Amino acid sequence: MSDQAYNPFVTAQRQFDRAADILGLDEGTRELLRYPMREYSISIPVRMDDGTVKVFRGFRVQHNDARGPSKGGIRFHPQETVDTVRALAMWMTWKCAVVDIPLGGGKGGMICDPHHLSQREQEGICRGWIRQLARNMGPDNDVPAPDVMTSPQHMLWMLDEFETITGSRQPGFITGKPVGMGGSLGRTEATGYGVIYTLREALKLLGVDIANTKASVQGFGNVAQYAIQLYTQMGGKVTTVSSWNHTEHTAYCFRRESGLTFEELISIADRFGEIDKEKAAALGMEVLPGDVWIEQDVDVLMPCALENQINDENVGRIKPRVKVIVEGANGPTTNGASKVIDERGIFVVPDFLANAGGVTCSYFEQVQSNTNYYWEKEEVLTKLDQKMTSAFHAVATLSKKRGLPMRDAAYVIAVDRVARACRDRGWL
Ligand code: GLU
Repeated sequence: MSDQAYNPFVTAQRQFDRAADILGLDEGTRELLRYPMREYSISIPVRMDDGTVKVFRGFRVQHNDARGPSKGGIRFHPQETVDTVRALAMWMTWKCAVVDIPLGGGKGGMICDPHHLSQREQEGICRGWIRQLARNMGPDNDVPAPDVMTSPQHMLWMLDEFETITGSRQPGFITGKPVGMGGSLGRTEATGYGVIYTLREALKLLGVDIANTKASVQGFGNVAQYAIQLYTQMGGKVTTVSSWNHTEHTAYCFRRESGLTFEELISIADRFGEIDKEKAAALGMEVLPGDVWIEQDVDVLMPCALENQINDENVGRIKPRVKVIVEGANGPTTNGASKVIDERGIFVVPDFLANAGGVTCSYFEQVQSNTNYYWEKEEVLTKLDQKMTSAFHAVATLSKKRGLPMRDAAYVIAVDRVARACRDRGWL
């Protein structure tokens, strides 16, 4: 196994190449879409609480904006790399295209760990980020949002800094804002709910009643939390959840055969979604090593954490009972593992389709912000369900018609839309 197999940008480019081959794209289009159109590398000096100055480094990558302004979250992560951000920006382009919203793809990453930063220090990073990038971003060219370890509060600090610099109110500059400060109802739930809307449709296609299914979930951040909430409301049973323990630098699985509920898990987790081991044990949950989420005897696996979590080393541990893998995270499956999963005939709802609910709701948030008219939660979630369901069926229909794995079918639809937009604009 070479390191390159686990470089998300290499993974993303190889996935794109397959779609380009299927679509018979010309060399110029391939060259354009295999790489980001623009990248920024930034250094942000922050005065720390102890009086010293620390310089934080980060990136903003704009992969493609042929279909609309670049769109994508900003991650705070101690192991962030530019290649991860490149891959994530590229996946955002396909994500917006597959659900057919008028946005392109971008992503941001800061190398930092908010566990070890005060609120004031995090505010310094957010404001510094905007000072570095304000001239290259904006409601009409690049619109950020929350992602791993960033929250509505971070978005509001960034918005405030942008509005201070531009001297105007610009609520369409950023999405994932707090409700009441330009945010949309339903945005917090949107990614996780979107995952479950697509899972519900996948199970319908397979003729399986969701109420008779069991699931194992990797992660307990924003995506996993709301996926668990809706899945259990629909009658599904979550037997296993894994969560990262940042003090021990390892993950743990929490398991109960009779099922875990959203409410009890949330009551014993911190704001990063870290589940407290002692409290879990006191509630009668088994506390197991973090990697066993993948080898559970369940119908559904939901990787909702980070990249490369299903890989060549552990793919063989997936139990025969597993019928569907719904990818809540971005890039959770390596290309080698993906091949094995397809050969085994497990139905996959690929990441940039399954987790497109977040950006779809971000698009609704922008529409609401720009018109200064805010919708009821039910209206937001109904529109979200419609978008996710129709995108899912377009991909599933193509997959069946052309005999393609779901991931390739999603790529064919998305890449074709983006390539067409580039051609129609006269870029190619
Ligand atoms: N960070 C989320 C994603 O990866 C949402 C992006 C957005 O809302 O712009 O899809």
